Amino acid sequence: MTTKPVYIVLLGPPGSGKGTQADILQERLGLPHVASGDLFRYNLKNKTPLGLKAKSYMDRGDLVPDDITIAMVLDRLARPDCARGAILDGFPRTIAQAEALDAALADKGLAIDRAVNFVVPDAVIVERITGRRICPVCGATYHVTFNPPKDDNRCDRDGAELYQRDDDKPETVRNRLKVYRELTAPLVDYYRAKAVLVEIDGNRPIEAVTEALLQALQGLLA
Ligand code: AMP
Repeated sequence: MTTKPVYIVLLGPPGSGKGTQADILQERLGLPHVASGDLFRYNLKNKTPLGLKAKSYMDRGDLVPDDITIAMVLDRLARPDCARGAILDGFPRTIAQAEALDAALADKGLAIDRAVNFVVPDAVIVERITGRRICPVCGATYHVTFNPPKDDNRCDRDGAELYQRDDDKPETVRNRLKVYRELTAPLVDYYRAKAVLVEIDGNRPIEAVTEALLQALQGLLA
């Protein structure tokens, strides 16, 4: 018996915990964590034509143009490991991206099953982002205070030395928040109108947010 693929969209400003929770959900639900930011960073690191196109936008904290982003994510979703669906983190970020995703899924008789909005105040966001550290090997995310690695500045999974993203510096973070409010926040109403939106309080410890999230997704995965 084949079950219908499940698509979960995680919404919320940068630093609201989408990546951290998507990693946990990936383990718990066995669905791949598809993060557009990670895909761009991978391309940037490997100096691919896509990475070179995206670089200047990412450096400024602006959005990469929709056509490039949509093609990249749809290509990722077409890979075999996404056959049962995916947890989307950082995509869609504009109404045009959401419409393109809906159209691509509708072509296969599918749709977004749930969009979860993580609500976190701006002051908390800035504190979270500036303390964020990333593993260059596996992409795991840590926070110097709220989610530190076991070993000083080294990844728990593979021991690689953690780094701070260039775009996690305060000036860029301010622009990313502005871009979020202008272009991405309208997606909350977009998914509410489709009756798939759930809002959860993201300003709590990681485990409490995971619990709320699992509750919000109940019934989706039989
Ligand atoms: P993130 O890791 O999600 O914070 O993304 C890092 C950067 O990648 C963003 O600031 C954008 O420049 C770019 N990016 C990631 N996802 C998208 C998207 N859905 N649309 C446009 N640009 C994106």
